[in-house]
Formats: sequence, C-alpha cells, structure tokens
Amino acid sequence: MIKANQFKRSTRPYDVIIVGAGASGLNALHQFRKRGFNTMIIEAGDGVAGTWFWNRYPGLVVDIESVEYSYAFDDALQQEWQWSQRYAPQEELERYFNHVADRFGLREHILLNNLVEHANFDEAAEEWVFRTDKGGEYRAPVAVMATGLVSAPHIAKFDGMESFEGESLHTAYWPREGVDLKGKRVAVIGTGSSGVQVISTIASEVDQLTVFQRTPSFCVPLRNCEMPPDYFDDVRRNYSTWRHRERYHSFGGWVSVNFEMTDPVLESALDQTPEQREALYENRYQSGGLALYNVYPDVFTDQSANDTLAEFLRRKIAERIKDPELEKKLIPTGYPVLTRRLVAETNYYEVYSQDNVTLHDCREDPIERLTAKGIKTGRESYEFDVIVFATGFDALTGALKRIDIRGRDNVSIKSKFEGESRTVLGMMSAGFPNMFYLNGPGTPSSLFQPILLCDEQVEWIAELLESADRMGRTVIEPTNALEDKWVSHCDDMLNETLFTKANSWYVGANIDGKSPRGLLYFGGIGRYRQALEKCAESNYEGFLFSGEQRVKTTAAKNP
Ligand code: NAP
Repeated sequence: MIKANQFKRSTRPYDVIIVGAGASGLNALHQFRKRGFNTMIIEAGDGVAGTWFWNRYPGLVVDIESVEYSYAFDDALQQEWQWSQRYAPQEELERYFNHVADRFGLREHILLNNLVEHANFDEAAEEWVFRTDKGGEYRAPVAVMATGLVSAPHIAKFDGMESFEGESLHTAYWPREGVDLKGKRVAVIGTGSSGVQVISTIASEVDQLTVFQRTPSFCVPLRNCEMPPDYFDDVRRNYSTWRHRERYHSFGGWVSVNFEMTDPVLESALDQTPEQREALYENRYQSGGLALYNVYPDVFTDQSANDTLAEFLRRKIAERIKDPELEKKLIPTGYPVLTRRLVAETNYYEVYSQDNVTLHDCREDPIERLTAKGIKTGRESYEFDVIVFATGFDALTGALKRIDIRGRDNVSIKSKFEGESRTVLGMMSAGFPNMFYLNGPGTPSSLFQPILLCDEQVEWIAELLESADRMGRTVIEPTNALEDKWVSHCDDMLNETLFTKANSWYVGANIDGKSPRGLLYFGGIGRYRQALEKCAESNYEGFLFSGEQRVKTTAAKNP
C-alpha cells in the first residue's frame, strides 16, 4: 500500500537534491524546505550566489533595478535589506545572497566545493544519483537543476590560442583577487553586456585598450546612482503593489520608469503619432536601464514598429559619438532592436574619444589568429599584455550539458539537447523522470526576470510533487507527445516574433551546432503562466505517474 507524502517521508536522507546555489537554487531550497521536503544543494563553488559568485569582472552591475532583482518571497527581507545603489554591483549582490543563505538557515543544507559531474537515473531504485568531483554520491528521488541561464562560459576559439604569452581572461572566470591592468596593453573581444561593462570601466586605467567588435550592440544609459532614499522608502511602503506590477504588468518583470510605476502600453507603435512615440521612447530612455523593453508590444513582432525604436536609439547613439567613422562602426544595423539584449552602460560611447582606446571592427577585418605577442587580423598585428574574452556563454543548455546526465535507458541530456532543446514547459524532458530545470530552456527566462520566474516554477513543481503524493505516486515524467507539443508551440511563438532575425544567444546562434529553433519561450510571461495553470488544472494531462516499485525497493533497502 502506498502512503501519501512519499516524497516527504522518504527514508532516504534527501527528497530533493538541487544542483547550484545561485539565486534560483537558494530560492528553491528555501521553498522546498518550507513545504516539508528534505532538500539539499550541491554547489561547485566555494560560496553561494551563482552568477554573482563567478562573474567578478571590473564594472559588473546588474541591469535590473536592485529593488526588483531581489527575492519577493519574504516581506521582512524586502524591508530590511538596504540596497546602496539603484543597480547593485556584483559585490553587493554576492553579499545579499549570502545574507539570504544565513537569514533562512540554508547554509547547513548546502554542500559547497562539489562539482556535479554525473547525474543518472537509477531505474530500479527510481532515484537520481549524483556523483561529484570529490567522489561523493548523493541520492534523491527528485532532481532540480538550478544550473543557471548564462553560466557556462563560451570561450571563442581562435587558431594559435595556446601560443599567446600574455594573460588570457574570460569575464566569467575573473580572478577573485582582481587583476592589475594599470599601464597594460589590453584587448577586449566581444561587445555584449559583459564586454561593454569591462570596456567602460578599464579604459581609464589601462595604457592601451583595443576593442574587437563583431556585432555592435544597442547600448542605453544605465543611469546608476546612489539609492535615492525617498524612492527606496516609497518602494518599500508599496512593495506588494510594486511586485504585482512587476509580475503582471510589464514585459520583462521590471517596471520602474522615471522612478515611478507606470502601466504597460498596449497600443501598436504604428497607431501612435511620431510625437507620441518620441515622448514614450524619451521617457523610457531617460529612466535608464532596460525601461525601453516596456514600450509597444509590436516592437517585438512587427519590423516597421521595431524600426521606430531602432531609429530613435540610433539617433541617441550618434549624438554621443564625435567621429563619423566610429559612428558607422558603433551604430547597430542589420538586426531588429531588442532581439539581442539591450546593453545598459555607463559612459560606453564616450570611452572611444579617449586617445588610448581603439575600436577594431571584426566585420571588416576578422581576427585570424592569436600569436605569442597578441592578435593577428587580416590587416593588422597587435601586441597585448592581456586579452579579455567577453565572448559570452553557452546559454541555458550549456550548463546542463556539461554534466553527464543520464535518464531512462542511459540516454544523455547531451544527446537529448543535440541541435535543439526539448522540454515540456521548460521544466522537464521526456525520459528524465523527476528531473526539473529552473529558468531552463523553453521558459521565458532572460526575457523575464529570472528571480521572479523561479518563484512560480518552484511553486508549480512543489504542487506537482504534492499531487503525485496524493495519488500515491513518486515518479513523474512527461510523454514524448507532450514534449513534441511544447517544442512545436515554442517554435510557433518564436516565429511570431522578430527574434529569428538576429544571431543571438537567445536562439543559440553564438554556439556552433546549437539549436536553430530558439532556446527560450518567446510567447511572453502571460502565455507561459497560462500554460502552467492549464497544465495543473488538467490534472497534468500528458504526464505519466508511476512509482510503486520504488517504494517497495526502498523499504527493503532502508528498513
Ligand atoms: P554576449 O552577449 O553573448 O556577447 C558576446 C560577445 O562576444 C558578442 O559581442 C560576440 O559577437 C562576441 N564574440 C563571440 N565570439 C566572437 C569571435 N569569435 N570573434 C569576435 N567576437 C566574438 O555575452 P555577454 O556579454 O557575456 O552577455 C551574455 C548575457 O549575460 C547578456 O545578454 C545578459 O543577459 C547577461 N549579462 C548581464 C549583465 C548585467 O546584468 N549587467 C552583465 C553581463 C551579462 P557577436 O555578437 O558577433 O557574436
């Protein structure tokens, strides 16, 4: 006879094992424990905070406001934490996540310094077995992969890389003790969010800086500042309203505009007069950061609507660049604005008027190879002391594929995600029972605020596990048919947008052989949320529930 609450009453030490102690992992650990699941985290680093633990490059600040890029699950936490800046720098975020780990008693449930190398589903015991680089083996019926969206660094490959005699750094592996760049000749390859922040920060310190740009980004002023006390007090007084707007009335889970909360604009950009559009774009631009995502919905779907915003931003960029030759190189063309992440910066374009800064356009003259002394392009040979690779990440699926994950019939996640990312609701894949992804491929993560999305995902997963308990089942997995349906729905959503028109990491275009279909759910948070609700309301139609054998086997093994 199978009893209810099998997960919670498991005779194993753990009901749920989470991989990763970043923002999602900590949230999940807290929420699962609160619901009575015996849960632990295995983490590769020697500290918590994930992205904010590993990425330590100069100038790193988050591009979502501190009051928003923080946990909503505990009001006392929201009220007591003092954010020092409108956009928090790396060290403050790292401190915040450490505070959360201590405040909620999470630390004792986190195993640090253990890199999960293998995770395989033991079909007889019906549990996941995790093996780490320290030789440890940990078992639980439920696996939650909180391995991060942009956490597997992509180091662009160039001939002769090993011959470079200077120092090579990737932005995501910046040494904790820092790097002294004073007086050095430095190259930065890449001009996405990481590259732009590094460039703007180190330009004043290095002797010479050469930026290797392949695709110019649309960059907008972050407008960071000390946290204005009145604004902070106002947010804290109205935090629940604020969070509600963030979740339900914004494109990406961020709402602040000119330090005020506004409703989303629902009209088409093309139904407005040029003056109305200009006023809205100017308002968002002046607000700073990513406020320009909260404009007309059809900028994501209609090229003409998109052009109105792109032209506005090109004009703004041009106003900041003095040299017409530089202007030609720095102004983005050839892809719709917002289909690659807007880059929020401080003084980026101004840096190019410094005498010690050179922009090398890799579209005109690509990098041929690295040499002992530096970088050789078709036309130039440069000498450097340091090369910074700001070349991005193998996003979403990369961190999962780095682990040798084996589901039923020993099928690996690597082969499952070969060429495309196959999931149901971005949270599970057929053949990988009881394995859940947080902010994974096939979710709106990175187009929505991942900290908030994680709240909803953890709740959904916990309710699914509790439903299984009520049925007396302990093993849950989606069918192939359901997976096909979600993959095809994701394709349809992507094809309704302009995101197909850019070579971005959103669509896996930065990694050879990666999904041509899109890594995210492009239908928006509203539709994604509806899909979660519909699935739960249908009693998880398309999911298989089993698990009797596991219970008996366990009882025999662990009397
Ligand atoms: P990214 O946006 O993927 O940018 C990588 C850059 O490297 C691109 O400019 C890319 O050029 C260039 N690159 C790659 N291979 C190259 C090659 N072989 N030759 C020349 N250039 C090459 O990566 P990222 O800047 O690390 O940012 C990734 C994401 O992390 C962001 O979109 C954002 O979501 C997040 N992030 C956020 C913050 C923040 O909150 N402030 C900061 C950093 C990162 P192409 O575009 O031509 O491929």
